[in-house]
Amino acid sequence: MPVLEQVTMEAFDKGRGEHRTVILPCGALEEHGPHLPLGLDALHADALARAVAERTDVWAAPPIYYGLCRSSSMHPGTVGVQGSALQSMVKDVVRSLYGWGMRNIVIFSGHAGGTHMAALIDAGEQLLPELPEIKLAVLSVLDLGKKAWAGLLETPGDSHAGEMETSVMLHMHPDWVTGSAPEEYPTFPEHILVRNKRAFWTGGVWGNPAPASPEKGAEFFERSVNALIELTRKLEAWEEPTS
Ligand SMILES: [Zn+2]
Repeated sequence: MPVLEQVTMEAFDKGRGEHRTVILPCGALEEHGPHLPLGLDALHADALARAVAERTDVWAAPPIYYGLCRSSSMHPGTVGVQGSALQSMVKDVVRSLYGWGMRNIVIFSGHAGGTHMAALIDAGEQLLPELPEIKLAVLSVLDLGKKAWAGLLETPGDSHAGEMETSVMLHMHPDWVTGSAPEEYPTFPEHILVRNKRAFWTGGVWGNPAPASPEKGAEFFERSVNALIELTRKLEAWEEPTS
């Protein structure tokens, strides 16, 4: 199935009765270290959704570019929205897709921040009682990678602007990568909320860009596409126990 922003009304109308699965990519506009573009998360999730749409009968929706950014909010270029705004947008988009007959929706985020993912999961939970026939999956690229990248990802705890994201960007848009960055992990205090977040996370890297390569990026990408296809099939076949 093509991506929704490219199809005509007629093509959509023809396809919608038969093909009822959509991937809704989500992202964030946020710092990705000194070497990667601000829009990486949406670009990544969108590219994976498009790749699935090219190979299967699943639709890819255009991405929701803005997300909830906590740890990176003090770094220049991070433009975040509140959880309530994100939830309103996601819920309205899913309601509209449902109105056109879509029944299996994968809310798939390139940004994996804890509060962002909690907002998305809660939006999904709010939709379950409202839309009786909806089947929803909510996950991040990192959730997908836990199994899919086994044996490939060398850096334990790599999650943001490190080995995986640098590799994927070297594969997708090498001209948008500006050199590299040192290995870094944040030092936020446990439990205590801090205002000056950058004092605990100077460079904005969470992981290690050093082992990144375009070849590895291609492999991360391919494995993620396959895992995402597998998830859409699982969701389509999913049946809740009735008692
Ligand atoms: Zn990212």
